[in-house]
Amino acid sequence: MEGEGAAADPRKHTITPKAVIHTKFGSKATYVVEEVIEQPQNGCPGLSIPQKGPCLYQCRLELPELSVVSGQFRKKKDAEHDAAQKALHKLGIHQSKDNPTLEEAWEELVSRIGYLFSDEFLASQHPMSGHLRATLRREGDLCGLVPITVIAACDGKVNSLCKSIDPKVDSNACLALLFIKSAASKLSGSLSTSDGGLWIKRQNPYPQNILDSSTMQESCSSCAIRVHALYIPSSREELVEPLSFDVPPSGYYLDIIAQKLGLSSSSEVLISRSIGRASSETRLYYAASEFYQLDASSTVQKVEPCRGSLNVRASFLSGQDIFGDAILAAVGYAWKSKELFVEDISLQSYFRMLMNKTPAGAYKLSRGAIITAELPAAFTTKTNWRGLLPRELLCTFCRQHRLAEPKFTTSIVPVKSAPDLSGPPKKLRIMKSDEETEYADVGRPTPAVEESPESGSTFKCEVKILSKTQEVILVCSPKESFKRQIDCIQTAALKVLLWFNAYFLDTTPETLTLSADSLDITFNTEHFRREFKLSPSVYKYQQKKIPEIAGNNCHVIIEGPDSGMSPSSGSLASISYSVLLATVGGHVKELLESANEFEFEIGTGSVVSHVEVAVAQMSVGQSAFFSVDIPDQELILAASDDPTRTISLLDSNSCCLEYCVTLLHITEPLEDRMEQALFSPPLSKQRVEYAVCHIRESDATSLVDFGCGSGSLLDSLLDYATGLEKIVGVDISVKSLIRAAKVLHSKLSKNPGSIKSSALYDGSITVFDSRLCDFDIGTCLEVIEHMEEEQAHLFGDVVLSSFRPKTLIVSTPNYEYNVILQGSAVSSQEEDAEEKSQQERSYKFRNHDHKFEWTRKQFESWASKLAVKHNYRVEFSGVGGSGDVDPGFASQIAVFRREALQLPSLGDGPVATAGPASHHCNIVWEWNNGSGLP
Ligand code: SAH
Ligand code: MG
Repeated sequence: MEGEGAAADPRKHTITPKAVIHTKFGSKATYVVEEVIEQPQNGCPGLSIPQKGPCLYQCRLELPELSVVSGQFRKKKDAEHDAAQKALHKLGIHQSKDNPTLEEAWEELVSRIGYLFSDEFLASQHPMSGHLRATLRREGDLCGLVPITVIAACDGKVNSLCKSIDPKVDSNACLALLFIKSAASKLSGSLSTSDGGLWIKRQNPYPQNILDSSTMQESCSSCAIRVHALYIPSSREELVEPLSFDVPPSGYYLDIIAQKLGLSSSSEVLISRSIGRASSETRLYYAASEFYQLDASSTVQKVEPCRGSLNVRASFLSGQDIFGDAILAAVGYAWKSKELFVEDISLQSYFRMLMNKTPAGAYKLSRGAIITAELPAAFTTKTNWRGLLPRELLCTFCRQHRLAEPKFTTSIVPVKSAPDLSGPPKKLRIMKSDEETEYADVGRPTPAVEESPESGSTFKCEVKILSKTQEVILVCSPKESFKRQIDCIQTAALKVLLWFNAYFLDTTPETLTLSADSLDITFNTEHFRREFKLSPSVYKYQQKKIPEIAGNNCHVIIEGPDSGMSPSSGSLASISYSVLLATVGGHVKELLESANEFEFEIGTGSVVSHVEVAVAQMSVGQSAFFSVDIPDQELILAASDDPTRTISLLDSNSCCLEYCVTLLHITEPLEDRMEQALFSPPLSKQRVEYAVCHIRESDATSLVDFGCGSGSLLDSLLDYATGLEKIVGVDISVKSLIRAAKVLHSKLSKNPGSIKSSALYDGSITVFDSRLCDFDIGTCLEVIEHMEEEQAHLFGDVVLSSFRPKTLIVSTPNYEYNVILQGSAVSSQEEDAEEKSQQERSYKFRNHDHKFEWTRKQFESWASKLAVKHNYRVEFSGVGGSGDVDPGFASQIAVFRREALQLPSLGDGPVATAGPASHHCNIVWEWNNGSGLP
């Protein structure tokens, strides 16, 4: 088992090769594990009997720049581990398993630098060798001068050795240059450096044959390569501008970048680490000489920028301190090809990069709806969540900001019996030490505890955000506990994201502390500020005070007929929409964002409020049109196809956003999907089967379904062989009845079975109608909770005193069961508020239309009183779960049986006062089977 293996692993607390690969490549790393047929020792080639015994596995790891194949192993896991290790080796990523001493690190660094300038290396596929070859093609003095920054940027091994010499290299990239230069100076027999310059040169020329074979074989296409890059001025007053340049076939791209930065040679350029994925070649280029003073001779290694101002935007993107103007480009040599690799960086991609570093931005991008989507305020269920899940978002966010992987700790909250909602709530205890499960590597839940170990137990989760050096930045421990471990993890992750998001949205320190409280977060101000000092200022850099045009109450025009199907809290709405940037007066319009089908959960704030408000007023099939004030410019620019044009539009005009939204369809909330997802067979089916049992038991020939809705019971009943001859449904929703009529009509016309007549009536079941009297069976499934409580009492009286079916089956949700459906126990905060009424405490109703949901006690009291009053016997039962253990059935059922014929009135209810031909219902549909029976 995986769990056991991990526990026995002595290196549990060091980062595994797989984790390193994951951190660097994320989903771009794919492991393909295959079984390998073990060759029989003394194989009989003709024999095709499959080998018994343990098989072996081999793993192929595909990375964007290379692929490796592992050795053969008994366990899949070992094969993967081996592949990851091989890949790291090839990439030159040194794993400091046994932290080298300072001396060893220096020694290795010197030998690595020596190797990079060896004959063998020049012909290799290493990206560094592309640079070497390019410098060798240069004419004159510059021939063969390799910028030190290139070595730092391209070789993972050099990089990690520099880090073992001094971890500060991580934030101060210049320190690495200094180390590389010192190492090169120790190879003065073969390499030369200069005091002032940031380059290394090999002293002896390469042998001609090696030069020929490596530099010549480049597919020297005769045309120059065009690079579309961006210029990021260090002053935030100045705009980021597109910048293009051509790299001639024999040229060195770094020389051209140097020239664009106003520098005389590439040795004066510095290169940042790659931005985004490790496999990307997107980097920032900036001047070295002007702002950094390198003093290799000094024993105290001091690298301080001496002048120039911090380039906030570039520093934010790279996570390194960058001074002066910078160029952002995706160009360089990659592993798989000897040709120069180039990708265009547009202004749009720049704004998206910025956006992707914000917690909500990554979510918006994953939804493909930068302007319209918002990071939801709550994680309800996985089925309702769209876009990347909170945990993935948080892991990506931490990676983006160069923090350690978030550390999730889940603990089990044992619940011996379900919380008794009628009595004082029991204290919930959190088992800490021995029941804690931890997983820190790549955030996959421990499989062993995916299921509740004990029925009724729930999970709590705490998440820690740590810096690269393992300092705690924040801890979030949500009060809520959850039935499923995965839900508590997602909720904790989401809370952290929401809090970071508030910070990025320019929150004051006071509100930040407040929101931390409400999100169950404690944070270390000092550590936090250090890691995130630039974030809000970058994000807000281009914001201007935009005059309000649309005003606060935006006017929504809704078009199309009302279909009656409207979403409500918990529904999934599916819309198509478009957003246009429009100048006031509407002369110029530019499409910013649109989707043919976009789904979101109503009530969680997963879209901008204007859209949610509009959709809440619409019914399926309708369209809404409205204008709103423009949001932050970054959002618009990230969405725009042509930010340059958009900026000029925004600058010269008053603009607003014009929305057009069509509601395509809605998926009903919680109740239906929970019932489908959690019960097998689904609860609705169990209710039908329950009714069928009673029909068969009682030899019933007539059935009336009170509150039949769209006829799901009547329809399903027809699938069973029963003795029913007459079936009738009553409801107050004509729309539902029409649907029911269609279904029943087509089914009965095809195969009526025993049915002779059927009808659907439109009317309230609390009002007498003589046509509803004297049925063998009455059913009323999941209806009473849709009425006010007093109406439910009235229905009880009317049905048992006047309609008097021989058997009446009434079902309604068991409120106590919501603890399981909604996966949360009574939280500690609520425990304190004992004076709170039951209804106010903790659980949502299962459906927005429910007026009440009763506990078992409340339901039993309602039914027992009615039974006594109207001379019925009553039994209690239910479907979903079990009646023997708390919290009882999911749906509770009362079965009333008529004891004798009508007794003299016992109460003051509306007992048999109406005459035999009193009709109040309208007939919506009626069907008779040929022979003309009524
Ligand atoms: N029994 C159906 C529908 C349940 S939904 C099923 O199990 O699928 C509840 C239904 O009760 C709705 O269709 C609603 O229109 C109906 N309803 C609510 N109050 C009513 C009343 N006073 N009279 C008749 N029907 C009512
Ligand atoms: Mg209901």
